[in-house]
Amino acid sequence: MSEHRIKKIVIVGGGTAGWMAAAAMSKLLHDDSITIELIESEQIGTVGVGEATIPHILYFNRLLGINENDFVKFTNGTFKLGIEFVDWGQTGESYIHPFGPYGMDMEGIHFHHMWLRQQKMGQAKPIDEFNLQILAAQANKFQRAQVELQGSPLSTIAYAFQFDAMLYARHLRGIAEANGVVRTEGKITRVNQHPENGHIASVDTDNGHHIEGDLFIDCSGFKGLLIEQTLNSGYEDWSHYLPCDRAIAVASNKLDELTPFTRATAKSAGWQWRIPLQSRTGNGHVYCSKFMDDDTALQSLYADLNSEPISEPNYLRFKAGIRKKPWNKNVVSLGLASGFLEPLESTSIHLIQTAIARLMTNFPDKLFNQHDIDYYNERTRLEYEQVRDFLILHYKATRRNDSPFWHYCRTMDIPDSLHKRIEIYKQNARLYRHDNELFNHVSWFAVMHGQGIHPERYHPIADMLPDDELHRRMEEIHTVTGKCLQVMPGHEDFIAQHCKASSSG
Ligand SMILES: Cc1cc2nc3c(=O)[nH]c(=O)nc-3n(C[C@H](O)[C@H](O)[C@H](O)COP(=O)(O)OP(=O)(O)OC[C@H]3O[C@@H](n4cnc5c(N)ncnc54)[C@H](O)[C@@H]3O)c2cc1C
Repeated sequence: MSEHRIKKIVIVGGGTAGWMAAAAMSKLLHDDSITIELIESEQIGTVGVGEATIPHILYFNRLLGINENDFVKFTNGTFKLGIEFVDWGQTGESYIHPFGPYGMDMEGIHFHHMWLRQQKMGQAKPIDEFNLQILAAQANKFQRAQVELQGSPLSTIAYAFQFDAMLYARHLRGIAEANGVVRTEGKITRVNQHPENGHIASVDTDNGHHIEGDLFIDCSGFKGLLIEQTLNSGYEDWSHYLPCDRAIAVASNKLDELTPFTRATAKSAGWQWRIPLQSRTGNGHVYCSKFMDDDTALQSLYADLNSEPISEPNYLRFKAGIRKKPWNKNVVSLGLASGFLEPLESTSIHLIQTAIARLMTNFPDKLFNQHDIDYYNERTRLEYEQVRDFLILHYKATRRNDSPFWHYCRTMDIPDSLHKRIEIYKQNARLYRHDNELFNHVSWFAVMHGQGIHPERYHPIADMLPDDELHRRMEEIHTVTGKCLQVMPGHEDFIAQHCKASSSG
């Protein structure tokens, strides 16, 4: 056994990031010679939001051996087929960004090219009618994919969850502790560094604990107790692209009908989310403090609630951006400590998950190879930039001009990477997926099309199909998709049958 092996991992923070790291690492590093200790402070608490997810969380839960129905039950969860964007392209318009595909690809090109060809001929049915997720979301229906029905839209249903983040963290804690993670309560008041290399040696808490470690995972939230307050790793500010910097969250009563989607409604200086859970509804107003003050934002949030508020408002402040060195010396930051991208596409929990996977791939020894660290940081940055560009698209691709905020967004500079993508799509509808990035052509198409970017042309191969063959195939896909919808159960019925929470009434 190498003398350089990591023997003690210290996780600072017990929010979603901390407990996800603790559960995953204790599962993957099943080795008695490694001890994992998590320190959290009840006095400080957690950020307490983060309720909507994307489909990749299924893999994380599977890795931990979490039974999905049990999971939905104990987190008061619901299913999510996509996000409905209301008033983004223009007030009065809406579209759904679905997790699963439109129609089916033909002749080696993406479905949307064939649809665009039909549209140019004036013969296309609405694009939403070719997407089972969208139809099901609109009809409040849900079921899991039936993978055995190959070729059927029922086999490709992709979904995620909407859940109570506190209950999720509590469950992850149970898994982590069962795997041997030691939890220590206390507020860290002192961080001690090795004098020769600046690595973190230990932390001290207000209640007398002195905790040493080889590898520190900073999950301390926005402040970045180790990564920033101690190691000054720097923060790259992206707020000129994503100017929203405040949120107010409030819970309200359960909706009469549980929608299998999250709603994001654009407002005069930001947007409002609505996340239906079995027990209550999560709501929040994300806004830009340059264009709206807190009192106006709160009034606007309350004015647009769909049910009675049942909690006090939770005020949050943030700045879009990324830690310049998410991994610095012997500290790896996860969650809010490593950067922040607003929750418009529910990506934060996913970014924690991929960061843990990346850390496992590049798991260090006590020598902390700088090349591994640099590689980790480059990949992290790339991933954040790709998600950032997708989020900016929602703001940039608007025709709204009804407030100074939207005027700013519509006319702001955007990264070259996004500019090129929009221009290519505008010309010939091509959408590239770079470097296995998170959002694929379905997502990019949904948002570009949904927000009113209409391409001049489409892929030339679409013209190679004779007219009657194209129409025949499109009719068939349309009919099959409609029939699939008919056999799907209601979302609430599905929950009642498989995963009804005991506290949901
Ligand atoms: C407005 C908003 C909406 C969001 N919505 C979504 C969403 O829909 N989907 C999604 O995926 N994500 C969402 N997120 C992001 C999500 O909430 C976070 O990514 C997630 O909660 C992880 O937070 P965290 O664990 O990094 O930090 P926190 O929850 O802030 O936890 C920090 C932990 O560190 C501990 N700590 C801090 N300082 C000390 C100290 N000195 N001593 C000891 N312990 C300390 C705290 O006690 C706490 O346990 C949203 C975020 C915001 C701000």
